[in-house]
Amino acid sequence: MKTFDQDGLRIGLDLGGSKIEGILMGPGATELARYRIPTPRCDYAATIVALVDLTAQLAQGTTGAKVGIAVPGSVSPLSKLMQNANSTWLNGRPLDRDLADALGSPVRLSNDANCFALSEAIDGAAENARIVFGAILGTGCGGGIVVDGRLLDGPRAIGGEWGHNPLPWATPEEYPGIQCWCGRNGCLETWVSGPGMVADHARLTGETLTAVEIAARAKLGNGAARASLSRHADRLARGLSHVINIIDPDVIVLGGGLSQLSHLYQQLPQLMGPHIFAERGSIVVVPPKWGDASGVRGAARLWDLPE
Ligand SMILES: [Zn+2]
Repeated sequence: MKTFDQDGLRIGLDLGGSKIEGILMGPGATELARYRIPTPRCDYAATIVALVDLTAQLAQGTTGAKVGIAVPGSVSPLSKLMQNANSTWLNGRPLDRDLADALGSPVRLSNDANCFALSEAIDGAAENARIVFGAILGTGCGGGIVVDGRLLDGPRAIGGEWGHNPLPWATPEEYPGIQCWCGRNGCLETWVSGPGMVADHARLTGETLTAVEIAARAKLGNGAARASLSRHADRLARGLSHVINIIDPDVIVLGGGLSQLSHLYQQLPQLMGPHIFAERGSIVVVPPKWGDASGVRGAARLWDLPE
């Protein structure tokens, strides 16, 4: 695995749908500064300005820090424009070039789930694992693959994007599923993301609760809440099993808000067993070491990857 370049300062930015986070990373991957600002929603030009301002704030008193950014979606290698972002005002824009022009320095960009997986694979919960799948379960459902310390991305820049595959081994009640923002029906994201869990609970119970409230009620023994968590864990197990049968990872790291649901780490290996095409069916599923910080840490470390 490539080690951190001790000579260089790095700035990592994580462009989320509601907030932009940034860190200044120094030698030894130490965090020297961190700031968080609101995302100017639905305003592309203001988003670029906000990213430039945040970078200037982080770089204050330093020189030559290299900038990496984690984004929802990715830049298409074909059109060189943003695609697949659930922050849809970014799509169709040359975000990496516009940001580099505004900063006057080169920028490396990758999908936020890729940055998460990279950070956890380099010095996080999956350190020393050869094949790592990072799955983000937040407002959306993203994924990233790291093999031998390098991101696995191809000619479409969609490596690891499992969230818009359909829920596998669907029951008649789950098929065809509801429509996703991407235009498809029954995407995993509509089932296993935070809003997916909330919507499922609301459909069956008529109660609109947050994911945190559902988990809290389940802990107190509420039957409907426990059933919602069970359905969610079973669907997540099916979704992850589908990935395992293709890339056979050593470790799966969960990220995003739902990665705080501790029952998942106990239940998932058992739930996945019957779906995995191998004698030893279960797999290691772990919580993230860096939590929310993995997006910015991974973005900063895009500069430690070969071109
Ligand atoms: Zn979708």
